[in-house]
Amino acid sequence: MDVYFDNNATTKVLPEVAAAMLPFYTEHYGNPSSIHRFGSSVGEKIAEARAQVAALIGAADPVEVIFTSCGTEGDNAAIRGMLEARPDKRHIVTTKVEHPAVLGLCQHLEKKGYRVTWLNVDDNGALDLDELRAALTEDTALVSIMWANNETGVIFPIDQIGAMTRAKGIPLHVDAVQAAGKIPFKVGELPIDLLTISGHKFHAPKGVGALYVRRGITFSPFLIGGHQEKNRRAGTENVASIIGMGKAAEIALGRVAEDSASLTKLRDRLQALLLESCPDSRVNGAQAPRLPNTLNISFRFLEGESVLVLLDQQGICASTGSACTAGSSEPSHVLRAMGVPADWLQGAVRFSLSRFNSAAEVNYVNEKMPSIVQRLQGFSALGRLDNQPQPQSEQGVRAGTFGARG
Ligand code: PLP
Repeated sequence: MDVYFDNNATTKVLPEVAAAMLPFYTEHYGNPSSIHRFGSSVGEKIAEARAQVAALIGAADPVEVIFTSCGTEGDNAAIRGMLEARPDKRHIVTTKVEHPAVLGLCQHLEKKGYRVTWLNVDDNGALDLDELRAALTEDTALVSIMWANNETGVIFPIDQIGAMTRAKGIPLHVDAVQAAGKIPFKVGELPIDLLTISGHKFHAPKGVGALYVRRGITFSPFLIGGHQEKNRRAGTENVASIIGMGKAAEIALGRVAEDSASLTKLRDRLQALLLESCPDSRVNGAQAPRLPNTLNISFRFLEGESVLVLLDQQGICASTGSACTAGSSEPSHVLRAMGVPADWLQGAVRFSLSRFNSAAEVNYVNEKMPSIVQRLQGFSALGRLDNQPQPQSEQGVRAGTFGARG
């Protein structure tokens, strides 16, 4: 059986989405900026897609949606665009558990002279809102906080965060890449100024995203050149992918409540089964509100990469919580920030489900998991007891090259 439980990394493109895209490669290949009908008719289709994406995120006006090339671009455009528009302010507030698209950029900006406040999380992955309140100053240009964590699925209380930033008149950017299509929300009714989403997390193709910028927010474009996207993002549009993202947004909006309920059941079942069948296992972020589809589970003394390699041999695709390169792995910055103890830190595995997964797949994973864990725990115990090097074949498994993606 092949089981794809890595939907926070990326999702399958829906057949309806692929079908909607195809004519924009083969027939309607005009440039939407052209004056002639061949181009302007494409422009009308982009406007439809913009309205579909605006509906998914609950934007008051489709004009607030700017198409981008991915979530990373949306995050960069939001943060850089806001800083450039407020050159007198040199302080950014973010969290220690952001995706590298925000984390890496803020580290870079720190080197360039910005002051960054890195908010902590507790052992459930939750933020301390008093710490956020205390961090907001006259000099704060922007607060950038993710809605849902890609590794643990932990959801932050964006409404309360937004109430605090709004009270101080500080713009709030929300990385909603993992939230869009998984939990229902209406950005227009929340105190959010900018919001990033990415198509490939909700069954649109990779390489297309959107940035919401609330009407009235002063924002400097990140890509400068042509007049596309009302001068807010230059570059000829990725038309077919934008059309696909619109279609995927329309479908996600229609299903989000239903999917969220069924995925919660499926995830909870997987969680209960694995905790029962695998000794020395624990769920990271279990006590916090979480995305319906995400389970981050640690196996004590193991390396997540080894588990992934053995799961892969059984046709099961999952992910760890950390990016790693061949032969060396860094523990996840998210789990570290949560204070996960050292003996559980390396052994994290993320299962992220979609509506295409079934109870039979959950049962299959649960069938395979105990023997994988037992096998690796046996080697791990041996290594800890006599501190001897492991057999060559197991070293290969232990030094897996699978990294967390997404
Ligand atoms: N932000 C979060 C929370 C993510 O999970 C991801 C991707 O996994 C990104 C940003 C980056 O999105 P993209 O892969 O579209 O660049």
